[in-house]
Amino acid sequence: MKHSVVDAIGNTPLIRLKRASEETGCEIYGKAEFMNPGQSVKDRAGLFIIRDAEKRGLLKPGGVIVEGTAGNTGIGLTLVAKALGYRTVIVIPDTQSQEKKDALRVLGAELIEVPAVPYKNPNNYVKVSGRLAAQLARTEPNGAIWANQFDNVANRDGHIHTTAAEIWEQTGGKVDGFVSAVGTGGTLAGVADGLRGRNRDVKVALADPMGAALYSYYTQGELKSEGTSITEGIGQGRITANLEGFTPDFSFQVPDEEALPIVFNLVQEEGLCLGGSTGINIAGAMRLARELGPGHRIVTVLCDHGTRYQSKLFNPAFLREKGLPAPGWMEGAPQIDI
Ligand code: PMP
Repeated sequence: MKHSVVDAIGNTPLIRLKRASEETGCEIYGKAEFMNPGQSVKDRAGLFIIRDAEKRGLLKPGGVIVEGTAGNTGIGLTLVAKALGYRTVIVIPDTQSQEKKDALRVLGAELIEVPAVPYKNPNNYVKVSGRLAAQLARTEPNGAIWANQFDNVANRDGHIHTTAAEIWEQTGGKVDGFVSAVGTGGTLAGVADGLRGRNRDVKVALADPMGAALYSYYTQGELKSEGTSITEGIGQGRITANLEGFTPDFSFQVPDEEALPIVFNLVQEEGLCLGGSTGINIAGAMRLARELGPGHRIVTVLCDHGTRYQSKLFNPAFLREKGLPAPGWMEGAPQIDI
């Protein structure tokens, strides 16, 4: 029995990924983060950021939590905030999926949509949220805080203390590699820290989508990006505080053309309907499997639920518009004469 929804965050299962394992000769497992109450890995960051702000005395009863987010962190923060008696004001780039915006509204977040502009622009959603938090801290009767997931290492701590500890326990310490994409870097750097702290030989890999700059940073020492990706919630262009002090053993750049067939196949063959970042992660896990060779056990993250992307990733018209192939089954029910 759980005391509240807050206690239902984490302790997600590790699910064996059949095709990825069979194709590589490794055992590839996915941490089922879509089974969190907010259906994503970001519930953990939301919870740790709020608990950390409480401990520091920054968050007062009835206070406001402000955040800039691609959606999932806002959802995690909002459900924890509602359970603990806070409000959330969420700033989201207008390019993010309608499903995530709807989920935020349904959960009771106060939602502000802003045009999607690069980080260096002062009107970038992260910077808008920081300014708004400073303003509300002055005007709100119970105060306001900025969750600041990118540079607040309470996010990474959440993964050191929960995700990594769970993976270690669930595998009985038999884990050879871990792979993840990066949004804030909390998941990758936190799990890396937690696993390497228990076994220095665990190999950690970055799976970077096109359009992100970390692959070039870790392979050539320069933050450079090329191409684009339809995946949401990942693709970082700078070294966030959560990434400071972290170095991957391997870095892979994964195009959507490699990741999306994996996502579609999981639906058809394994009963798993997941978001695009999960495809990048599994493609990365398969590349690490090929680097390490058969017989190794590799863990990655099943970041969020696919129903969050029905209007995009699982919409053939959207895929066609982006020049990406849509699988036949997605076009609808077979034509049957009755
Ligand atoms: N996948 C999705 C769908 C996400 O929303 C996020 C977080 N923005 C991530 C992956 C990456 O997680 P992190 O912020 O811990 O790097």
